[in-house]
Amino acid sequence: MAKEIRTVEFVVLPTTKTKARKMFQIAGACRYVWNHFREKNLADYQAFKNGKGEKPKTSYFSLGVEFTRLRHETQWMLELPANPIKHTLKYFADALKEAMEGKKGFPKPRSRKKTAPSFTIPSSAGVRIRKVNKKYSSLLIPLVGWVTLARRGGVSYKGGTPKQAVLRHDGCRWRAFVSYEVEVEEKMDNREVLGVDMNIRQIATSDGHFYFLPDLEKKEKRRKWYQRKMARQIKGSNRRKDTKRKLGKVSRKIANIRKDWIHQTTKEISGKCGTVVVEYLKVKNMTASAKGTIENPGRNVKQKAGLNRAMLDTAFGKIRRNLEYKCGRVIEVNPAYTSQRCSDCGHTDKENRKNQARFLCVNCGFASNADTNAAINIRRLGMARLHGEGSGISTVPANREIDTRLL
Ligand SMILES: [Zn+2]
Repeated sequence: MAKEIRTVEFVVLPTTKTKARKMFQIAGACRYVWNHFREKNLADYQAFKNGKGEKPKTSYFSLGVEFTRLRHETQWMLELPANPIKHTLKYFADALKEAMEGKKGFPKPRSRKKTAPSFTIPSSAGVRIRKVNKKYSSLLIPLVGWVTLARRGGVSYKGGTPKQAVLRHDGCRWRAFVSYEVEVEEKMDNREVLGVDMNIRQIATSDGHFYFLPDLEKKEKRRKWYQRKMARQIKGSNRRKDTKRKLGKVSRKIANIRKDWIHQTTKEISGKCGTVVVEYLKVKNMTASAKGTIENPGRNVKQKAGLNRAMLDTAFGKIRRNLEYKCGRVIEVNPAYTSQRCSDCGHTDKENRKNQARFLCVNCGFASNADTNAAINIRRLGMARLHGEGSGISTVPANREIDTRLL
């Protein structure tokens, strides 16, 4: 048995006005702390970037000293629970560290209007959850009291230990994301290896299966319509607020449909194999960019220009992460030429791709769906990696490898 962290999503049922006000106050204090530390560190960060100053200390501990001082200076904060507010430092320390390493920009300010109110009950505070009945549980928020939770899909991890709870207000209600530490049975490896070709609207696997994303066109059109409508409306008006609420509703619906689909699809795929081979994500996203593909620069520009890169990043990332924890093993390979190469004879030619959907080898006449052909090639690259290592198909659980040699 191995231990893993699984997150369960709940909605917080309406509670008393006092409790609701307190929750917003905690979130407000977190925002305040974040912005305070942001301002404190901005000058140092800029000086360091320009080669003039010392490297600012980014550890949770060094920020903690300043936090204690701040907390005692700010009277209203003393009435709020310390742990959730202090946990903001952890997030800030991580963000600052990433900025120092050049991975990301300097942390952005959190605004009252634009940032969703949220706070975290960290494990140091002890996350307490008790079952009320079959349908409901309740969660203890320090210095606020018990609030009732209703689970939103997924499974309840009965034997799991709640470790952390993130509370976030989505503009309509509070949601709680509770991370449980659960004992999971190590998946038996059936020694099957499956290649996966990810696309915008579907996933193809090397065994010839397709998983189609549900049609969201109507809902996305409506979302766009609301977005435009809101842009025209007067800020602060009631009509605008109403549109905003409706926009939030349809956005959440779209997100939920996507999420469910990813869960179901990755569950099915992982049920079939012990090892899954996927394309190296960065490269895949590059191929999907408006500039065209690596192999066919400038092709499909029109079709792909409209795609939201950020959306693709997160969608493919989510699929991969899901496969990572559901499959025994995930191997990443470079997808170059996987769509042009014949999976039957190995002949690689642009001419093999007659159009977006069909593959027809000009050398041997092998015909197939283009994505299935690509998935078979991806699987082959993964197999080459496994055998190249001389290890055969290993039963080592969940790890992820990046094929740097091929990049
Ligand atoms: Zn061929």
